[in-house]
Amino acid sequence: MKVVHFHTSSAEQGVSDRARLIALCTGALGLFINFFVCGVYILSGESNALVLSEVAVYALILAVITTCAFRRYRIKQTFTAGLLAIFVVFWVGTLIEGITEQTAPFDFPLVLFVPLFLVIILHHRVLFATAPIQAACVYFYTCEFAILDIGPNWLPSDQNAYALMMSAFSGFSFCALGIVAFARERADAKMIEVIAEKETLASTDGLTGLLNRRAFMDELRHLWSVHKTVRIAFIDLDHFKPLNDQYGHSVGDQILCKVADRIRSVPFVAAAARLGGDEFAVVLEKDLGSQSIDDVLSLLHQTIVSDIRWESGVITIGTSIGYAEGKTVRQSLSGLLRSADTAMRRAKGSRSDWAVFNPRIDNAALATSTLEVELKSAIQNGQIKAAIQPIADAKSRKVVAHELLTRWTDSGFERDPSPKDFIPIAEKLGLLNEILWVTLDEALAHLDLREQKLAINASPAQLLASDFLETLLSVLGRHDVRPSAITIEITEEVAFRNVERNVAILEEARSLGMTIALDDFGTGYSSLSMLDTLPLDKLKIDQSFVRKSDQSAQSKSILLAAIRLAKQLGLESCVEGIETQKFAARVAVLGADTIQGYWLGRPQLVKDAHQQLQIAS
Ligand code: C2E
Ligand code: MG
Ligand code: MG
Repeated sequence: MKVVHFHTSSAEQGVSDRARLIALCTGALGLFINFFVCGVYILSGESNALVLSEVAVYALILAVITTCAFRRYRIKQTFTAGLLAIFVVFWVGTLIEGITEQTAPFDFPLVLFVPLFLVIILHHRVLFATAPIQAACVYFYTCEFAILDIGPNWLPSDQNAYALMMSAFSGFSFCALGIVAFARERADAKMIEVIAEKETLASTDGLTGLLNRRAFMDELRHLWSVHKTVRIAFIDLDHFKPLNDQYGHSVGDQILCKVADRIRSVPFVAAAARLGGDEFAVVLEKDLGSQSIDDVLSLLHQTIVSDIRWESGVITIGTSIGYAEGKTVRQSLSGLLRSADTAMRRAKGSRSDWAVFNPRIDNAALATSTLEVELKSAIQNGQIKAAIQPIADAKSRKVVAHELLTRWTDSGFERDPSPKDFIPIAEKLGLLNEILWVTLDEALAHLDLREQKLAINASPAQLLASDFLETLLSVLGRHDVRPSAITIEITEEVAFRNVERNVAILEEARSLGMTIALDDFGTGYSSLSMLDTLPLDKLKIDQSFVRKSDQSAQSKSILLAAIRLAKQLGLESCVEGIETQKFAARVAVLGADTIQGYWLGRPQLVKDAHQQLQIAS
């Protein structure tokens, strides 16, 4: 069954590396010893044509072993064949020496031990096969050439017995080595099996047997580096959750297994994975033959969605597929997967069977999904920083408060994302409170709030978190800041859902001394009714009113009406977006209590603002 292409397991790799090292060392050391012995022969004047030709053949064989090991070419085969060749050459040379009467007395131990060293690390079958040859050669050599030196006066029967004993000793030593080799090979095989099993378990999805996410990424990285371009398809089943709920989890599991089998069976699938839940991914073969990518995606879709027959009837599965290609290895793996995921979402949204990633269409969605992935680690890595913007008395222009705003710094993107980009994402991911606690902690560590206030922004979901006020008080407590130094800026969405609960939380905050401001007043749809529903102390009039106030007398009157409305309701008014002195003067005349805007000061990272304040004082 085709699942994936696995590379060699790490254990097999380890054993093959060991064989290579042994072959390399044996070859190199053998060459050294060979030339050393040759040198000794030449210097002692004992060299002759036979010795020199033996040395030459050994050198040739050892050089072949070393080269093949170095180049990783058929290491085991050349090593075994090479050592066997040396074994044969050794015996041929020794027997010729015997026949030509060049044998020396010290040659006898050599015929027992040199062959033994030659075969010591070979396969057990080779050892058992060479044992009788070695025994026969020793017997022949002892009887014919050595026995007259060892026991010249022995009876022929004793001489024969001695030769037999030496032959048996040598043959059995080969067999003993064979048994040790057999045990070692078994242990190696077992180890390879155990490690391979562990690797398979760690790299496959327990339910479907496909690759898991980590192994898929490894495989993707490997294929990409080999082929320089890689094609992937991201597969997501449609409405799997309701199916799971309707038929139960065991049926859900069987559906996933069935889908996995179907994915495996599709031609051109080089690797397949279950990334989690009902999400699958495949890497397609580099060569699709005469098929176009559309044909392959269509086939993949058709294969997955064909109905599954069940005892209780037929289950229809739907799926959406997104396809993306990685052209250069410089692209990131996770980026490629996200591109395919983004295309898949577009396919799902438009009820198409599949969609091919198209930067022109998908880049905006991809950017959002990229931010979603990066934001979490940005918070953990301290890239989310606190910024503050001053709020001043409209008449005296004395700074009376700051608004806490969030900045994403050192993001690694071409341009750091602005709050307008990432705040909605943080809201969707439920990360806004985490961001608030981080930035508030940083701001409180630098600001002196004995005379001034600090305004924080809180979305409805933030307020609804069960520990919102509790955590807020504990952060304030950590910095010895009174709750009355805090203004909570809310938007009118607070009144759209769970109004009673939100109002209760705001009232509790108020009872603790905090101030409540309605932010961006005038931008929503039901601003006036909000004023009645929410417990408020302050209205922040949206910057669009200021900008428009220059365009017509009517717009100027609306700005005035908004300021007056606040006054009549007993609320403090703050006009946002004051970018010039003219606007500052105008809203002061119109009766605004406080102002905020670039003219007064742009939002600044707290650490920079703090440094400036210290220099000024
Ligand atoms: P906001 O609460 O109304 O904050 C004021 C926004 O107006 C800030 O944008 C500020 O930089 C900008 N601004 C201030 N003065 C001027 C001006 O004179 N001219 C112009 N053109 N703009 C001005 P920023 O920092 O980009 O924040 C945008 C929005 O993102 C904020 O609007 C707020 O709703 C939200 N936000 C920012 N930080 C946080 C946060 O930590 N938590 C939550 N929940 N929302 C946040
Ligand atoms: Mg605000
Ligand atoms: Mg605002």
